[in-house]
Amino acid sequence: MMTLVIATRNAHKLGEIREMLPAGTACLGLEGLVGVPEVVEDATTFSGNALKKALSLSQWLATHRQSFDLRSSPCWVLADDSGLEVDHLNGAPGVHSARFASLGDPNRRGNASDAENNIKLLTLLAGVPEARRKARFRCALALVPVHGVPSGGEAVVGPILVDGTCEGRIASEPQGAGGFGYDPLFIPDGYSESFATLGVEIKNRISHRARALARLRQEIDRLGR
Ligand code: IMP
Repeated sequence: MMTLVIATRNAHKLGEIREMLPAGTACLGLEGLVGVPEVVEDATTFSGNALKKALSLSQWLATHRQSFDLRSSPCWVLADDSGLEVDHLNGAPGVHSARFASLGDPNRRGNASDAENNIKLLTLLAGVPEARRKARFRCALALVPVHGVPSGGEAVVGPILVDGTCEGRIASEPQGAGGFGYDPLFIPDGYSESFATLGVEIKNRISHRARALARLRQEIDRLGR
């Protein structure tokens, strides 16, 4: 039995990933893992940050897994780095999506709230017509084995990196109460309602994260052949 540790403190991301993994996948988030080091997400790409988060946690687990209930099974880390790119803003907020509203404020460090980020985005796009509100979500996933694991004879595999995108546009006002982050403002192509209104079932079929996870499954199948 293999255990997947998801390197995120974002309960929404964790919930979506859990929901989309094949049934029966043993996976856990960071809640029960006391002492996991914080990662400075300063890479310039989503995949750079995803890899940084995955490697940091897998290195930490290699020496701390015996303190948790992870001793006997092969163990992998999955990290997600994701965000929104808006064409009218030359790709911003991009890798700064989580801290968009606190960028440039010397009195603030770390992430801003979803509400603050959404207000900043709407303010910057005020008066911009629908045709020029194109945007996309991007998700990069990094899968890394935790070494020092009783291997069971399987081949040693390095980091696997995949990504997924979902094209759409930014609404003129927030719509819906579901999801998280920029979901109330993002209308995926082919739909007239936001992710927050469409709900998790549709989102998990078409989202950037769903597409990245589908690619990850293909990569894992390819390596297994
Ligand atoms: P990360 O934790 O550094 O990857 O930050 C991701 C940020 O991008 C989140 O805090 C959200 O603001 C935004 N984001 C990523 N994925 C989604 C999504 O599926 N829906 C809405 N916002 C998202």
